[in-house]
Amino acid sequence: MNAGPVKIVKFGGSSLADAEHFRQVQSIITADPSRRYAVPSAPGKRYDGDIKVTDMLYHCYNLASEGEDFSDAFAKIERRYQDIIRDLGLDLDLSNEFETIKNAFHYHAGSDYAASRGEYLNGKILAKLLGYDFLDAAKVIKFYDDGTFDAEKTNIILSDRLTRHERAVIPGFYGSMPNGTIKTFARGGSDITGSIVARAAGATLYENWTDVSGFLMADPRIVKDPCAIEVITYQELRELSYMGAGVLHEDSIFPVRFAGIPINIRNTNKPEDPGTMIVPSATEYDREKVITGIAGKKGFSVLQIEKDQMNAEIGFGRRVLEIIEKEGATFEHLPSGIDTMGVILSSDMSEHTRKNILNGICEVCEPETISFEDGIALIAVVGRGMVRAKGTAARVFRAIADADINIRMIDQGSSEISIIIGVNETDFEKALHAIYAEFVPQ
Ligand code: ASP
Repeated sequence: MNAGPVKIVKFGGSSLADAEHFRQVQSIITADPSRRYAVPSAPGKRYDGDIKVTDMLYHCYNLASEGEDFSDAFAKIERRYQDIIRDLGLDLDLSNEFETIKNAFHYHAGSDYAASRGEYLNGKILAKLLGYDFLDAAKVIKFYDDGTFDAEKTNIILSDRLTRHERAVIPGFYGSMPNGTIKTFARGGSDITGSIVARAAGATLYENWTDVSGFLMADPRIVKDPCAIEVITYQELRELSYMGAGVLHEDSIFPVRFAGIPINIRNTNKPEDPGTMIVPSATEYDREKVITGIAGKKGFSVLQIEKDQMNAEIGFGRRVLEIIEKEGATFEHLPSGIDTMGVILSSDMSEHTRKNILNGICEVCEPETISFEDGIALIAVVGRGMVRAKGTAARVFRAIADADINIRMIDQGSSEISIIIGVNETDFEKALHAIYAEFVPQ
């Protein structure tokens, strides 16, 4: 591999939905010679109501696996690619590829195989357009037999392979199991491939090109025109994305975080926007801002348990959590008092699970009272600036109180970069507005 900066560029489906977008992607890549490895998604929606190629592939494969005629559904997929190739004026014939895929559908090659062809074919087109080598992800991204990702084996194979390719396109979203079967990541998983390639290439930067100019400080469906986040640390991003601030697949953070490589979220349609930088540590970027972002989610329940002398009863907490664990439920927070304990869980448990948790705790822990209360929303106020700024919690609580909202739960993690509060779901939007207005002068 030659020295100098190496950037990995990953393009989402909306950035590669048609020939016009491919041209835009080409101009972005060629504008910077250090953009040596490109990771494409499958073609996304071209307009509202359009269907992503990945979804078309799943649908088509379902027909095939149920023994139904899938030729029309397959022809539509072919046409998406043929249109792109024709409009780009490329001398590229994918008919053999289509034939192979169709046959594999007949022989029920698996829905992961089917879905992965979206990225595979798009990778072929992008490689041709750029004049880059095509490196099939099945050869370099490896999974264990049980379907979990084999990070170390992948890193060894991929970093070696990249030394043989000065410039290459590696399709996102899939890899292969030890027996050669194709395996995909979860939906949106091309982000993960980009991160894996960045680690293996020892990249200086992982650019993730999408259709928004990075992260916003709050959900634009709730807060009008929220400010963009210029710089965010991996740790802050974990807190915000856990609460539902989308854009980047959550698992894509780990490979680059491990290697200390920053991610830059960029907008393909506005390449002049700097986007959001996600960095290991942000001391060099820090300015006045106390909070970086606010995110939240509805759909939580509190399991409230009361028992006299709970604080003196050794093992009480463990026994409660063991019962929850046995039911396969994960808890989100654990606010506790002297004789009370609250366990916050996602509300989407079955009635059966709820009953087992209640009965199990009654039997083993003999509480005075125990009940589930639904309709709780959690809000995370996140910011590395909170560590050094005094009075942030006071400002959050005053803003909520001034908005006449009752706080149901408070939790500040030991890292001090986030304060999590629980409110009634009916107060959720109002609380987000109030906190945002407190910290971002309008
Ligand atoms: N094409 C896949 C999906 O739609 C993966 C991706 O786009 O990242 O989920």
